[in-house]
Amino acid sequence: MKMAKSYDVTIVGGGLAGLGLTALLSVQGFAVACIDNTAPKQALTEKFDGRTTAISWASQKVLEAAGVWDALAPDACPINDIQILDGDSPVLLEFESQDVGGQSFGWIIENRLIRKALYKSVAKSKNVDFFAPARVTDFSVDDEKAVTKLADGSEISSKLIVGADGKNSFTREWMDIPVRGWSYNQHAIVTIIKHEKLHQNIAIEHFRAEGPFAVLPMTDAPDGAHRSSLVWTQHGSKDKSALSYDEDTFNMALNARFPKFYGDVKCISQRFAYPLGLKHAYSYIGERMCLVAEAAHAMHPIAGQGLNMGFRDIAELATLLISAREKGRDIGASSLLKSYQQARRADNTLMMGATDSLNKLFSNRMPGLGPLRKLGVRAVSHFPPAKQFFMKQAMGATGLLPTLIQDK
Ligand SMILES: Cc1cc2nc3c(=O)[nH]c(=O)nc-3n(C[C@H](O)[C@H](O)[C@H](O)COP(=O)(O)OP(=O)(O)OC[C@H]3O[C@@H](n4cnc5c(N)ncnc54)[C@H](O)[C@@H]3O)c2cc1C
Repeated sequence: MKMAKSYDVTIVGGGLAGLGLTALLSVQGFAVACIDNTAPKQALTEKFDGRTTAISWASQKVLEAAGVWDALAPDACPINDIQILDGDSPVLLEFESQDVGGQSFGWIIENRLIRKALYKSVAKSKNVDFFAPARVTDFSVDDEKAVTKLADGSEISSKLIVGADGKNSFTREWMDIPVRGWSYNQHAIVTIIKHEKLHQNIAIEHFRAEGPFAVLPMTDAPDGAHRSSLVWTQHGSKDKSALSYDEDTFNMALNARFPKFYGDVKCISQRFAYPLGLKHAYSYIGERMCLVAEAAHAMHPIAGQGLNMGFRDIAELATLLISAREKGRDIGASSLLKSYQQARRADNTLMMGATDSLNKLFSNRMPGLGPLRKLGVRAVSHFPPAKQFFMKQAMGATGLLPTLIQDK
């Protein structure tokens, strides 16, 4: 058995949330061990993750506090207009940035690029050790410390273990925390589309009978091609979905579905399929251990909020850790972990409920529901306070923000 040096915090999982927390804590001078079972070289290939993320206004503040926003900004495409369409209707509801003081609702960035910026920042930090590829196989916890055991037999000691190991979290299972959840019997097809005309920084959410069809604006490609990212949700098995179409059929299907202002459209990257489901851990905490992001809550991407909620978790946790350290308190204390859970569980529950209801409402083909739904959406459109509320939700600018990002 090899005992490595001891740290303030051990983070299990170097996905976007785990790396984000590592960077946030490293900027604040904490000694951090982050462990991921995939080598960075592999995780940065185009085949690893074809997704882009709609980074909300609040998540941008988290990336700023983590010291990586300047590196990401050139590849971040602002969303200045959100258009909601339902079935064959024209635009039913439109949110424009001028209604929120000219601020962008968020930015679309390739996951690969967020990961790359975070890896770079973590690699140059003197107070972080990144163990990858390395698999966590066991833990042990006592009054003084928490020990993380790796598959190669080495052990890492710290005051606190954070499980950021995704929706099938090993950490959560080890903590014996049950989850509430279900599959949506849907999958999202994700890919990048090149289009003839400018996207005008518009994000489209088109609720179609086959499932939501979202088009999200990206920065132009190095060769000048205008690009958007597609998230096309379909019901049932992916074998019978548009994923299996040949290239020409897929491009024809896209041209039939994209609004005409994009001109001719063509898929220019690999197509990925992600199965969709909901999972919520009954508790986020245990002795000297806690869960963040998808290890605690995985939701439908219909509102593009999964990682944004995860970033609120890590900002809240970092805020509490900084405050405990300033007061000379134990950063793994159960009172701190209870405060973390109290601050985050209700907020995540609300967002999960909202995404679940939206998906049910817009994927339901019950006769008569379509006109009622349209009436509801139009009502939001004509009631400015409701419109403002939804716009602030999209920006992540509601509720009490963690102190770490309030001052940014
Ligand atoms: C189609 C789609 C579109 C989306 N769009 C958006 C969007 O626009 N905006 C948004 O906010 N969210 C979006 N999301 C959600 C977002 O992608 C996820 O919330 C986010 O990627 C989860 O990150 P994570 O770090 O929690 O988990 P993961 O990315 O799953 O990372 C977990 C890491 O832990 C590692 N790991 C697991 N077990 C172990 C172990 N035993 N030892 C060591 N390492 C381990 C894994 O290798 C992995 O790297 C979308 C999701 C989907 C499916």
